[in-house]
Amino acid sequence: MNTEQSEALFEQAQSLIPGGVNSPVRAFRSVGGTPRFIERGQGAYIWDADDNRYIDYVLSWGPLILGHAHVRVVKAIQEAAARGTSYGAPTRLENELASLVIDTVPSIEMIRFVNSGTEACMSALRLARAYTGREKIIKFAGCYHGHADMLLVQAGSGVATLGLPDSPGVPAATAANTLTAPYNDLDAVRALFEQYPDEIAGVIVEPIAANMGFVLPEDGYLAGLHELCKAHGALFILDEVMTGFRVAPGGAQALWNLDPDITCLGKVIGGGLPVGAYAGKREIMEMVAPAGAMYQAGTLSGNPLAMAAGLTTLQILLEPEVFEDIAQSANTLVESIRKIAAAKEVPVQAGQVGTMFGCYFLKDANGSIRDYDSAKRNADSVRYGHFFHAMLEHGVYFAPSQFEAGFMSAAHQPGDLQNTLEAVEVVFGRLARSLI
Ligand SMILES: *Cc1c(COP(=O)(O)O)cnc(C)c1O
Repeated sequence: MNTEQSEALFEQAQSLIPGGVNSPVRAFRSVGGTPRFIERGQGAYIWDADDNRYIDYVLSWGPLILGHAHVRVVKAIQEAAARGTSYGAPTRLENELASLVIDTVPSIEMIRFVNSGTEACMSALRLARAYTGREKIIKFAGCYHGHADMLLVQAGSGVATLGLPDSPGVPAATAANTLTAPYNDLDAVRALFEQYPDEIAGVIVEPIAANMGFVLPEDGYLAGLHELCKAHGALFILDEVMTGFRVAPGGAQALWNLDPDITCLGKVIGGGLPVGAYAGKREIMEMVAPAGAMYQAGTLSGNPLAMAAGLTTLQILLEPEVFEDIAQSANTLVESIRKIAAAKEVPVQAGQVGTMFGCYFLKDANGSIRDYDSAKRNADSVRYGHFFHAMLEHGVYFAPSQFEAGFMSAAHQPGDLQNTLEAVEVVFGRLARSLI
């Protein structure tokens, strides 16, 4: 495969932009090699600068649930752009997208749009703190909620512990208000509530931990978290930036009957443009300025291009059968990968919910992954790197890290799945015989 152009562009980019990329995972550090510079996308495919075509299961990390450059989404963006790209004043489109989200996601009564998932989660925490008058929050090791200071914290071990910053530049004092616990461990959360009575403003959690691969919540875990929050006067914050409109139109909360106080959204609701949102119960959301005292603002928040892309994407997604068909494709892909893995004796742990999926290569075939510790211990990153590059050679673009989820779109046709699975079969065969 010729990658000359990507190599030249990456070389140049590294002198212009830190690491050559504007978001770290794009640099292929965990799988090695040269990141592909993408020229264009259409439907299920992307083309790189050397004109290699790939079937894309990254889809801009989730947003493009209808595939690249969907004709109706492009048209909506073009029409909006022709009327002006931003006014810094309210628009009809914002009401329309807000109504649609409120009607679709069960717990949401009011919503505030921002420009990214990071902003959504950061603002949700400020709101939880403002509402409860408390400062500490609980998050889970391996869960990602964007790069705000107080969220760049994770436990170093399986033991619930006081937060230590993950990144230089995060003040220790900020991190100290972030308590961490292992995912899927209610006792650890109970212990934190007992240790810090009346100090915890909220618990923020990914309903599927899909930024450490693909870890499902165990039975009763999420409901148990909500119960603990209620018992201790803390807010239950569900980060559905990835799962919203992805695991079900109404998100994980619709699928699993959860009733969070605050929900964070992003990715799909922007249809490929920069959008995030935090939303929830009216009584809580009315604390947000100018209705209430908690300040949060944004020059480009709710801008008409982003609203048009999001609104059109969600409208199409909610048409009959659209969501179900994408979920069916994801199910077919993952079931087939499991079968091939079993036949070739390649130990994997694969999961799928709705239109999202993930697949770990296991070092220990008998061990399972249920939290960040077991993911770090048992996920075979070397093997994943071989798999990733071999699939690229076959024209299939999975995430350049095993600790990221995979995504399906409405544009993926049965023939694309078949081509993908034929490649998986060849590559797993070579992995099993240790040829790569
Ligand atoms: C992607 C993601 C974020 C951050 O969103 P950005 O738009 O990248 O800032 C937050 N939470 C979850 C669960 C995510 O998957």
